[in-house]
This record gives sequence, structure tokens and C-alpha cells, in this order.
Amino acid sequence: MSAFDPFALAAPGLRQLKPYQPGKPVEQLERELGIRDALKLASNENPHGPSPLAVAAVRAKLDGVNYYPDQHAFTARLAGHYGVAPECITLGNGSNDVLDLVARAFLVPGTNAVFSRHAFAVYPLATLACSAEPRAAAPLPADHPSMPYGHDPAALAAAIDDATRVVFIANPNNPTGTWLGEAALHDLLARLPTHVVVVLDEAYGEYARALEAAAGGERWPDGLRWLDEFPNLVVTRTFSKIYGLAGLRCGCAVSSPAIADLLNRVRHPFNANSLALAAAGAALDDTGFVERSATANAEGLGVLAAGFARLGLGTIPSRGNFVCVDVGRDAEPVYQALLRDGVIVRPVANYGLPNHLRVTVGRSEDHARVIDAFARALAA
Ligand SMILES: *Cc1c(COP(=O)(O)O)cnc(C)c1O
Repeated sequence: MSAFDPFALAAPGLRQLKPYQPGKPVEQLERELGIRDALKLASNENPHGPSPLAVAAVRAKLDGVNYYPDQHAFTARLAGHYGVAPECITLGNGSNDVLDLVARAFLVPGTNAVFSRHAFAVYPLATLACSAEPRAAAPLPADHPSMPYGHDPAALAAAIDDATRVVFIANPNNPTGTWLGEAALHDLLARLPTHVVVVLDEAYGEYARALEAAAGGERWPDGLRWLDEFPNLVVTRTFSKIYGLAGLRCGCAVSSPAIADLLNRVRHPFNANSLALAAAGAALDDTGFVERSATANAEGLGVLAAGFARLGLGTIPSRGNFVCVDVGRDAEPVYQALLRDGVIVRPVANYGLPNHLRVTVGRSEDHARVIDAFARALAA
């Protein structure tokens, strides 16, 4: 009898799957270097913390954690907020969870999922977990005049074939921050065939809307408005970014009731926990917190981009709460030097961007420190 070999027994997609690499936690860096006051701008978290209303709601809910979460009530609440029927909502343990549900509902071996080359790492992971083929479409070129490294709608459409079941589009995209405007996105949705489900990942939509308005641009496209027009559309939202609840894990998909019914068949009951739901409900109410976060982000993004420009570094245009900076050489040593200086940013070589680092917009008092640390790291 041969030796037990779990790798040979695993689902075929898992053999190619490289696990998600999270940003380095602050505590870990401080322990490793024996420092304090490390600054983490690596995971696009809201630097202003959770809303105080969300914290109070979690405290109030703690005594009730012996009960299973009331997802029904929260779903109704969310449906009201979005102006859709409750049957359109699928709750997630973070939006990562619902991306996975879409993959599990529609991808099997022999099918493929299409996304743009520098897109969110979870799309190929969710695809490979179903042993389907991840298919990266060519991005816009690095020297594109307005949207370097951005999604190329023509390339995305061209990558689709009869075996495609899912297209993932993050708008704006992570890690590049690039985006599709209302007209371009609508055109793309209109040309996708009806044998594909299209996921519009709006994790940064609230930031983008404020940035678009500040730039005096066209209206930011809100995917929820297109659900009636495109029955194959799934819009995903999260409480991890502007709502400041990344550690609690809450997100959702909004789609036709027919798609939501399928997603709910593979969803674990009670996937979003009661503390997360309590916090998310309170965070929805705190519109002032969301507005202040969006305004501070728009300012901070400008400060960061200007600071990098002073260092002679280019940045990719962003509608998110982060910016990708081109350090003009292998970014790994620069990343390491920044770590030694107590500043954690995100390497994006695994996204096909080896010369870039992604920096989350921090608090206003953080940005001078970040730019100074980059200056030192580049001089080292
Ligand atoms: C951060 C992010 C998410 C959110 O993930 P959660 O699981 O909700 O924390 C989703 N999509 C993209 C593109 C992201 O960058």
C-alpha cells in the first residue's frame, strides 16, 4: 500500500491555490521589532475606527449571544436601506463569504470565471476552490493615459466563452483603485451573455461616490439601480471598509430573488453573527460617521498622492481608500525598509505589480510619517 498523500487526494483546484496573504498585523510587527506605535496601512481598513454607535450596539448585544442571530430582522433592515425586497439579499460573513457562495453556486470543474489581471485576490481563490479555471483578462496598459492597469471592458468580454459562468468586476478595483465610469460599466454589463453571472464588487463604493463628486466627475455608478435591467447581476457590499467593521465580518450580496435563492442554498445558516449584525445595523444609522470618513479619505488620498509626487513617485489613479505607488524598482526591499521604520503597507507582487506598494489612506496625522518613511526607505 502506498503512503497517505492528502495532496494527491485533494480537489484539483486546491493544488494550484495559493492561500490569501493578509496584511501584517500591528502586534506582530511590534513584537518582531520590539517597537511601539507601528502604523498599519496595509488592509484598507477605516483608520478612524468603528462608529461609536456600532461599539455601543455590540456591547448591548453581548448578553444575548446565547441566542442564534436574528438574520431575518437584519435582512429586512438592509433591504429597506437598499430599497430592494428582502428576497434579494444574501448575508455573508464578510463579502468574501458571498463571493465564495457565488463561486460554489455556479462554478464546477470545466467552467471558468473571468476577471481583470490586477483584480482582487479572492476571485481566483474562490474559483480554484471549486476546481474551476480562473481566467485573467488583459488589463489596460501601464501607460494608458487615464486608467493605467485598469479594467479593459473589451478584454473582459473577449475572455468569455461558452464555459464561462462568472465574471468578477470590482468597481473601484483593489489593489489598483482604478474604476469604470457609469457609461463604460453599463455598456459592459449590457454586452455580457446571459449564461454568465456578473458580480459587481462594490466594497469601496461609498468612498468612490465621494471621490467622484469631489472630482466633479460623472455620477458614480450604483449597481443596485441596475438589478432590474440585468437579471444576471450580483452586487456585493461590505461593512469592512467605510463602516469600519472589518474585524466583525459582515457583508452581503444583492441580486434577483432567483440568484439569492441559489446562494442561500449553499450559505451556512447563521454565517453572519449577532454581534456583527448589531454593529452593522448601528453603523448604517451613523450616516455622519460615513460622511466624515469619506471626506477625510478624499483629503488624505490627495495628500498621499502629492507626497509621493514630491518624491518623484507615480501613483495609479484611485477611487478607493488606498493608492498604489510605483517605486520604480522591485518593491520588496522598500516594503522591508518601511517595516523596519514601523510602517506596514501592502506588497502587491502577487497581484502582478512587483514595483508597486499599496498604501491605505490613514488619519490626517499619519501621512507625513508615511511620506518620510518612503523617503528614507528609498534612500537606504
Ligand atoms: C476588502 C475587499 C472586500 C471586502 O472583504 P470582506 O470579506 O467584506 O472583509 C471585498 N472586495 C474587495 C475588492 C475588497 O478589496
